[in-house]
Amino acid sequence: KASVMEGDKFDYEEMKDSHEKSQAKSAFEALQEERKRLPMYPYRDELLKAVHDHQVLVIVGETGSGKTTQIPQYLHEAGYTKRGMIACTQPRRVAAMSVAARVSQEMGVKLGHEVGYSIRFEDCTSEKTILKYMTDGMLLREFLGEPDLASYSVVMVDEAHERTLSTDILFGLVKDIARFRPDLKLLISSATLDAEKFSDYFDSAPIFKIPGRRYPVEINYTKAPEADYLDAAIVTSLQIHVTQPPGDILVFLTGQEEIETAEEILKHRTRGLGTKIAELIICPIYANLPTELQAKIFEPTPEGARKVVLATNIAETSLTIDGIKYVIDPGFCKMKSYNPRTGMESLLVTPISKASANQRAGRSGRTGPGKCFRLYTAYNFQNDLEDNTVPEIQRTNLANVVLTLKSLGIHDLLNFDFMDPPPAEALLKALELLFALSALNKLGELTKVGRRMAEFPLDPMLSKMIVASENYKCSDEIISIAAMLSVGNSIFYRPKDKQVHADNARMNFHTGNVGDHIALLKVYNSWKETNYSTQWCYENYIQVRSMKRARDIRDQLAGLLERVEIELTANSNDLDAIKKSITSGFFPHSARLQKNGSYRTVKHPQTVHIHPSGGLAQVLPRWVVYHELVLTTKEYMRQVTELKPDWLVEIAPHYYQLKDVEDSSSKKMPRGAGIAS
Ligand code: ADP
Ligand code: MG
Repeated sequence: KASVMEGDKFDYEEMKDSHEKSQAKSAFEALQEERKRLPMYPYRDELLKAVHDHQVLVIVGETGSGKTTQIPQYLHEAGYTKRGMIACTQPRRVAAMSVAARVSQEMGVKLGHEVGYSIRFEDCTSEKTILKYMTDGMLLREFLGEPDLASYSVVMVDEAHERTLSTDILFGLVKDIARFRPDLKLLISSATLDAEKFSDYFDSAPIFKIPGRRYPVEINYTKAPEADYLDAAIVTSLQIHVTQPPGDILVFLTGQEEIETAEEILKHRTRGLGTKIAELIICPIYANLPTELQAKIFEPTPEGARKVVLATNIAETSLTIDGIKYVIDPGFCKMKSYNPRTGMESLLVTPISKASANQRAGRSGRTGPGKCFRLYTAYNFQNDLEDNTVPEIQRTNLANVVLTLKSLGIHDLLNFDFMDPPPAEALLKALELLFALSALNKLGELTKVGRRMAEFPLDPMLSKMIVASENYKCSDEIISIAAMLSVGNSIFYRPKDKQVHADNARMNFHTGNVGDHIALLKVYNSWKETNYSTQWCYENYIQVRSMKRARDIRDQLAGLLERVEIELTANSNDLDAIKKSITSGFFPHSARLQKNGSYRTVKHPQTVHIHPSGGLAQVLPRWVVYHELVLTTKEYMRQVTELKPDWLVEIAPHYYQLKDVEDSSSKKMPRGAGIAS
């Protein structure tokens, strides 16, 4: 029988059986008691008064005080939802989902009914929805359909301190609509104390402070820098487990792969400790963790056991896990960096800021005195860490945002009301790219192509690839490829003990050296032919979950194609047509083979390599187009397809000239001869 605590299954109203009903009722009542114990609760009426008195309010309160889960409920209880929905934005998808699930439990309603969430490619809301948790990016997209956000009575831009790109753009947009919608309430909430900046930006909006309850946290540093922080984190976790009094452990790691590795090693080493040691429950949490497993981190730790949560930055302020007493902070996170000169973007493991380090430490002192183990030296902390993280807007590719703003009719981007403006160079680069993709004309105005592209919640190069597929009559194949690319790097499954089998299975899709994009298409189509069989996925070392997600995304892309009036046409025998569509979006990502087996990007020459897991890694075609670059030990191209150099001139004559694509080593060969070899 399902436990009444399981958020999405718990529906107080609909429960028929009276015994269950009384059980549900007591769980429901217990939740109401819990709500009243949150630091936020004593300030409920004061907050409601402040919201009533002011249109814009900046709210500051420590993580875990109840901002995200309680404020929208208070406003609902005070009647604000009679005039429209309450939106609460989150920088991260997992946070939006998890918080919505929690709030639906607290309100005793089914998730997706009165309380729902909306994240890219997943809309869990209905006609009934009044509290809508959503990613900041999704609210940004809602402006496209409803520029005055008329269906909302309150917009709460939560986790404002994170300063994600979408949040920063939202600031400018909501500030603007608040001027002509006096009935709209605007809440900007943040977990850090630098609220003055938000207040200044929003015309001196008042700041509402919720005093935190924080216990002292003892900070420990390492004596010398750690060569391998992952190993150090694992060893420290085990030491805490064996020597320290009860209390759960939170370890900050940089991403899924690292977390999975840590999980495996921890499992292995705890087995070695024997039965005298208490049980250690390992809970991973990262953006792509399947929903079913996300709830596990919130389950209370059984008596006598200890929980260790292996988390990405998501646990820094977005999610609060009760019971954490020990924090292990290796001092790193994954961060986007962007070089506006070359237009290249990569995800890098980077040292965190002092502000982040202090947030992380604070996670251990919520319910009692805590301890934080920093796996770096006190000297490192003082001298090497920046005070604050640079806002994303200043270190990212802006093409997507510029396209959105242009679609909203905002033309003068240099004078947009940014809280912190992006580098002018990055703005120009974005305009240049959108012009090259034919999304903008010479005057910087949106073209028909651009308008169609903006309908797709994808990066402009991907949307262009889709829009261009109309010309090559292969939209059917292209949306499958786009969906597979959007799922990310989790299609192929490669268990440590079966790597050879997994690699062989993967290479089956590469027969004929078709390139990674077409291999992804083959995976999708083969799965479809088996009628979406799970068994087939197991046999081919393919992750079922990722495939289902690809299918969902594909369905939505098919719907969007209809909206922009592009017919769904299949052209599966013409691989060149498919490759030309890909090139139409990704021509700025072209590279040419060098004598030593490396590649040189064509436009802003830089040395890159085919990722060893790529299907063409042994083939080394003369000319390629790639999906993305990842920097690990080298700068690697991921998802690579061969192209003919004349396509570049044919498809993007404004971008490439003949001299760019002529092979200096083989000037006499006819153009395009390179591909025959
Ligand atoms: P804030 O936004 O101020 O950081 P929240 O509203 O997120 O605070 O959290 C308030 C409380 O709700 C915390 O004690 C947290 O543990 C609990 N909570 C939030 N989300 C969940 C969830 N998905 N499951 C269980 N408890 C949760
Ligand atoms: Mg919050």
